[in-house]
Order: sequence, then structure tokens, then C-alpha cells
Amino acid sequence: MPNYDVVIAGGSISGLLAAREIAAGGLSVAVLEEDAEIGTPEHCGGLVSISGIRDLGMVPDIETIENNRIAHAKIFSPSGCFEISAERQKVIVLDRRAFDKQIAFQAQKNGAEIRVKCSMRSFGKEGSEYVVKTSEGDFSCNFFVDARGIASIISRNRDGVLHSAQYEVYASWIEHDTIEVAFNSQQYPGFFAWIIPTGQGKGKVGVAGRRINAASALQRYIDSKGKCSIVRKVYAPIWINGPLRSFVFDRTIIVGDAAGQSKPTTAGGIYTCGMGGVLAGRALVDAADKKNDDRNKQQLLLKRYESNWSSMFKPEFDKLLVARRLLERMDNKAIDDLIATIPPESVQEASIDGDFDFHSTALAKILGAKGAARIAKALLGNEIRRLIPGS
Ligand SMILES: Cc1cc2nc3c(=O)[nH]c(=O)nc-3n(C[C@H](O)[C@H](O)[C@H](O)COP(=O)(O)OP(=O)(O)OC[C@H]3O[C@@H](n4cnc5c(N)ncnc54)[C@H](O)[C@@H]3O)c2cc1C
Repeated sequence: MPNYDVVIAGGSISGLLAAREIAAGGLSVAVLEEDAEIGTPEHCGGLVSISGIRDLGMVPDIETIENNRIAHAKIFSPSGCFEISAERQKVIVLDRRAFDKQIAFQAQKNGAEIRVKCSMRSFGKEGSEYVVKTSEGDFSCNFFVDARGIASIISRNRDGVLHSAQYEVYASWIEHDTIEVAFNSQQYPGFFAWIIPTGQGKGKVGVAGRRINAASALQRYIDSKGKCSIVRKVYAPIWINGPLRSFVFDRTIIVGDAAGQSKPTTAGGIYTCGMGGVLAGRALVDAADKKNDDRNKQQLLLKRYESNWSSMFKPEFDKLLVARRLLERMDNKAIDDLIATIPPESVQEASIDGDFDFHSTALAKILGAKGAARIAKALLGNEIRRLIPGS
């Protein structure tokens, strides 16, 4: 039976970044990906900050960038709209098909082995060995990394999963440098519709929401915008309930969407899930070091991944969970009233101080305006103070 220090199930951003780090640390590692091609089928908008990508240790190849000119975001309520500048946030749109392959190439150069069309079925102890059972036979390993995305977490908790649909479309109403986000509690309860431009007149248009038929909701949204050609359709679940309590269970380490590491507000996970992979990979290298063969010590070193990820993201995710609860309580009147009360100065401040990867600060600036804070407090009570201190 082939043996590796680490076997990773899931060859997307978190699994591949973990593999890159593990192989760089001199360990043998195999990545098992059930699909036939890394990065495909793509189920991502690709929106990410340049600083986030740098933290992941990546400089995207030119062909992986679909749009490097996101300058504005238009936020719509059912009957209102405001625009925020995104210039300072330095946000780009990545082609995940190409970007994931770029990470796979880095991992492979470090010594990782990547196997596509290889589906992991189970992991457990057999005699004295830890065995991963797959569609291509059994592998033994010392550690197992679960990077299977939503497929893994959905079995633990369905409540945090929303349905989404995202189409690639060609349409004259898509502006090259502008993201659009539309809130409507009847059409997209608990989420929103979005447009992510990949060029002038083309982009990714999507919706997600609780208990909706995402395909019908997206068609209605597209019809409301005007004529277009749809050139690709994707339906995928998203996770919005925040991280699992623990990411480490004995020899199993959970990373990325499988660990609930995507943002509770937008379900964006390229940066936060990617960092999960990077931090887990580094912790595994330390834990697998021969001088750390004491089991308790190994567990402590693995748990460092958990504490490092949490100290980077947990305070932010806690605030975003408050924003999520607020959104879930708002009907269309509340959304309209709230957006109508936001003064231009708050939008301006949010544009200047906002950080795409830690957007609770911008949310607090916008919701902190007097009228908006009153509406938010009426809906959430004192809990809103965790997002808007002093409200
Ligand atoms: C419609 C949509 C739009 C999004 N837009 C954005 C965005 O604009 N910006 C952003 O930051 N994030 C976005 N996200 C979220 C982002 O795509 C995810 O957070 C991120 O891809 C998570 O990476 P991951 O590696 O943890 O999991 P995934 O990318 O879900 O990868 C899991 C991998 O595991 C494989 N797998 C599953 N089961 C098995 C098995 N048994 N054996 C082997 N392999 C298996 C899957 O085939 C897959 O390749 C979006 C998500 C969706 C659905």
C-alpha cells in the first residue's frame, strides 16, 4: 500500500496550499481530488484582495487575473442604491480554474503528488496503520487532511448551507469596474444577488438565499437587468455559519470550507480558507518532526493551527455573524429604510478605511450612522454592540 506522511482529500485552494507547505517542509504528501481536473468545475466568483493573495504566498500569473480594475461597488436595496469606492481595497477577480492550477504547480514543484479522479471514501485506523480508502485503492499515512469543502461540513450541519446559482454571462449592463450587490429579503432571504465583472460586458452573476430555488431567483434577477447570453451555469452550496469549534481531531486536520472558514456575510473563502490550508500545512510540518514523536506534543503543535487561524479571523467572524443575524431579520422595508438613512460621509469613511478581508470595520462605519444604528438596534437589541461598539 502506498504510504505518505500526509494524505489530503480535496484539491482546491485549501488542500493545495496545505500540500505546498507540507511538501516544502520535506514531508511526503498526496492530494486526492475527485474531479477530473484541478480548478474545474469552477464554483467561485474569484473576488479577492491583492493583499490576501500575497498573504497566501501567491503572485497570480497574468492569465489567472480576469479583472484587475474593480473601482466601485453598487449596493441596492429593493428601492434604493448607494455606491462605495473600492479603489483603496485593491480587489481583483481571479480565474479559479487557472489559479488553483498555479497552486497545484507550486505544490508539485515542492514534491507533492496530485491525483485527480481519485475520490476519498473513508479514513480510519486499521491495525497499527492509518488508512485512507479511495476509489483508486488504499493509502496509508500518519496524518489526514480533510479539505473536501462543503461536501464535508454539510454532513455535520445543514442549517449553515445556502443554495447558490452563478452564471457567466455576456451583457451590455455589466460595467467593467463595478461590482453590484442587491438585497431583497423576499427574493434572496439571508443573502443577496451579485454581479462580478470579468471585463466590459461580461461577468459572473449570482444569487444565494435560504430555502430558495436559486436557478429561478437568478433568472428573475437577470431578466430584471436586461438582455444577455448565458455561457455557463453553476449551482453550488455555500456555508455561512462560521467556523467549526475545532479543526483538529487526533490525526485528522480539517481546513477551508470543510472547517467553515468562509466569511459568514459573503461566503468568500479564497483568503480565509486558503490561510487555513497554509497554517495547517505549517503546523503539520512541526508536528511530524521526529523530535516531536510524543503524541501529546504532536497534538499541541497541531492545535497551534487552530489557535493561529482563530487569532487571525475569529474576532472578525464573530462580528460578521452579528451582521448575518441582522440581515436575516430584515424585511424589505427595513432594508430600504436602513439604506435610505446612510449619510454620504459614512459611505466615504467606509471607502477610505474599509478592508476587503476584514469588512466588519466598513460595516460598522455604515451601520453606525444614527438612523441606521437605530434600525439595527431595534432588530438585534444590544447584540448589535458587538458589531457597532457604543450603539
Ligand atoms: C458561487 C460561489 C461564488 C463564490 N465566490 C467567491 C468569491 O468571489 N470570493 C471568495 O473569496 N470566495 C468565493 N466563494 C467561496 C470559495 O469558492 C470557497 O470558500 C473556496 O473555494 C473554499 O476552498 P476549499 O479548498 O476549502 O474548498 P473547495 O473549493 O470547495 O474544494 C473542495 C475540493 O474537494 C474535492 N472533494 C470533495 N469531496 C472529495 C472526496 N471525497 N475526495 C476527493 N476530493 C473531494 C472537491 O471536488 C473540491 O475540488 C464562492 C463560492 C461559491 C459557491
